[in-house]
Amino acid sequence: MNYNKKTVKDIDVKGKKVLLRCDFNVPMAKDGSGVITDDKRIRAALPTIQYLLAEGAAVIACSHMGKPQPSFDKWVQKQTEKGKDPATLTEAKWQKSLAELTLAPVAVRLSELLGQEVALAADVAGPDAQAKAAALQPGQIMLLENTRFEKGETKNDPKLAKAMADMAEIYVSDAFGAVHRAHASTAGVAEYLPAVSGFLIQKELDFIGGALANPKRPLVAILGGSKVSSKIGVINNLLEIADTIIIGGGMAYTFSAAKGGKIGNSLFEADWQDYANEMVEKAAAKGVKLLLPIDTVCGDKFAPDANTLTVEAGNIPDGWEGLDIGPKTIELYCNAVKDAGTVIWNGPMGVFEFAAFAAGTEAVAEALSKTDAITIIGGGDSAAAVQQLGYADKMTHISTGGGASLEFMEGKELPGVACLLDA
Ligand code: ADP
Ligand code: MG
Repeated sequence: MNYNKKTVKDIDVKGKKVLLRCDFNVPMAKDGSGVITDDKRIRAALPTIQYLLAEGAAVIACSHMGKPQPSFDKWVQKQTEKGKDPATLTEAKWQKSLAELTLAPVAVRLSELLGQEVALAADVAGPDAQAKAAALQPGQIMLLENTRFEKGETKNDPKLAKAMADMAEIYVSDAFGAVHRAHASTAGVAEYLPAVSGFLIQKELDFIGGALANPKRPLVAILGGSKVSSKIGVINNLLEIADTIIIGGGMAYTFSAAKGGKIGNSLFEADWQDYANEMVEKAAAKGVKLLLPIDTVCGDKFAPDANTLTVEAGNIPDGWEGLDIGPKTIELYCNAVKDAGTVIWNGPMGVFEFAAFAAGTEAVAEALSKTDAITIIGGGDSAAAVQQLGYADKMTHISTGGGASLEFMEGKELPGVACLLDA
């Protein structure tokens, strides 16, 4: 995939209507009160918005929020699958579930942050959106309703994409968190408009794309998290480009078991043992250093108040499960990143959500904060871990897209990036 894309700076936006895809899928209070519990994603969009407005563009912002079911029948089906009694599922309840996913609170917050009015259209590309877009002046911004209120959004329906595109003259994508999805508002619209990236996507492409395509070496990849099966793509791709691969987290135990180790009740995927052995062989054949844990901190249950026991890797007693890397492994791994040119990290080293099993993840985060290497964090939980442990501002780049950053590291083509104009 070509990561070198045109940005808002490569196109004249003065006096133009710009359709701007943002990621305003912010967490909301569970009580349906419309309170935004974390506005980080809205604030992250400000540089691109402010640039466009200052350059004299009229900005038509859009985003999805949550997973609304745009048809009553589909909603009933989904709720029934979740175990709800179909007799209690009324049209009014469905309407309420939609109403809770309005972007109205986002419009209010965005307006506060920008210090100017942000009008919310009642629809995505219907009469109200069209009228408001037509009247929008340079320097003004409006917001379309939740793009997923339209059935055509997730189906990438060309009719919806064209209706959205018809309101504007330029498409700017800044929703990195959604670029791995080929939806009408993330990719489809680019069929009808000149399409460029905003600053957020630009930064992701520069850092992650740069580290994958042309890394400052040695490139060390630290891979952890829960399951081998969810990281196959990342392991495969990074094995082709990294100089060192470090394995931690729950997936390490499948590697350990595959070598004949005793892993007690640790996370284990029997079907992936052969794959684990193949990866070890492949790394050796390629001259890639592959490091596995040499000791492990176990718990006697999966809980914050579990009793703990530190043992050599492959020697976990029955009744115990590995929940973090041990102190010798910490030393090994921290040494391995010291002289790195670039470190890509995806997946916590242990169950960092429990203080008793957060030491491995914290030690790695601290080691990264002290290297001169370019440090890149991808994956939703890894980003959360680095933030929670207080090392966020010490990293070169923390990706804003969980799923998108994973697919990026897997080397997959991202539809929301591929659709942008090449630089
Ligand atoms: P990311 O979202 O960064 O890609 P993952 O979703 O793959 O990361 O994995 C994150 C989860 O892995 C965390 O919730 C963490 O608790 C869990 N995890 C890490 N190590 C272990 C372990 N040894 N046993 C069970 N779960 C683990
Ligand atoms: Mg995750």
